[in-house]
Amino acid sequence: MARSIGVVVTHYIWVGVVEDLRLSAVRMYPPPGQAPVDLKALPADEIVDCIRQEIAQITGGGPVECVGAGFPGIVRGGVIDESPNLGQLKGVPIQEKLACALAADGIHARVAALNHVDALAAGLAATRDSMESLIRVWYLGDGIGFGRYPRTESPWELGHSVVSLDPKERFCGCGGLGHLEGIMGNRAMRLRFLDMEPEEIFAEARNGDQRASDFVKRWHRALAAATATIVHAEGPGRFYIAGPNADFVNLEMLGRNLMEMVKMSSLQSTFFEVVPTSHDLALIGAAVSSRGR
Ligand SMILES: [Zn+2]
Repeated sequence: MARSIGVVVTHYIWVGVVEDLRLSAVRMYPPPGQAPVDLKALPADEIVDCIRQEIAQITGGGPVECVGAGFPGIVRGGVIDESPNLGQLKGVPIQEKLACALAADGIHARVAALNHVDALAAGLAATRDSMESLIRVWYLGDGIGFGRYPRTESPWELGHSVVSLDPKERFCGCGGLGHLEGIMGNRAMRLRFLDMEPEEIFAEARNGDQRASDFVKRWHRALAAATATIVHAEGPGRFYIAGPNADFVNLEMLGRNLMEMVKMSSLQSTFFEVVPTSHDLALIGAAVSSRGR
């Protein structure tokens, strides 16, 4: 049976072979145990070439039916319109470039490109035995991503939701003032604290440091505020939380903050759930999305 390939580009490049909604093989670049590579510094063509090589390795030249690839930012019609955290991808017709690169290797597969958190939402929809018709996911990493299933052509760049009117809140990678990512993103946390890595900030907060602890409260209130805006726009329900910084989330604090922000009784049935191993689900979702075109 022909196989589907899922690709997800975040802090790493992940490539997986998907058969019957399961991953039968996964590779990551850089490989585990090797020095990290800053993907921000890699030109777009090198990222495409890297994906091509990983796919060649993982398929061993065998048949591939379709390839779905998830990238951070706004992806429409196969083109990356915006990608604040991998700026070199802005404007790149990634679907066409990837299809050409694979064709040069003899892989004539259908290729689809989408936002990587939309891929994760599609993966949740495909693998969870759930009756939910709407899946919404926050992705907490270097940037703050938001994904939704079913996918629409709207940008849904809710990591850039305005959650503060303070003009000093200017740490978002996109340059916008008061943004969620300007509080929660890794770059923003480093700029705010200068002398601490994100994990150190959360560790210091647990140790009782006042400044760190005040910030951790603000970090949770920011996510609650952006969620409250979505709830007021399209209704309550479950919100999944994924990504490397999901480990920092205190679900009790987040839920309490949201309750303070959403008071209309018909909008109150919202809850949060952390998704472990989210890159696996994103790979499955990317592959599944490429089949549906
Ligand atoms: Zn922003």
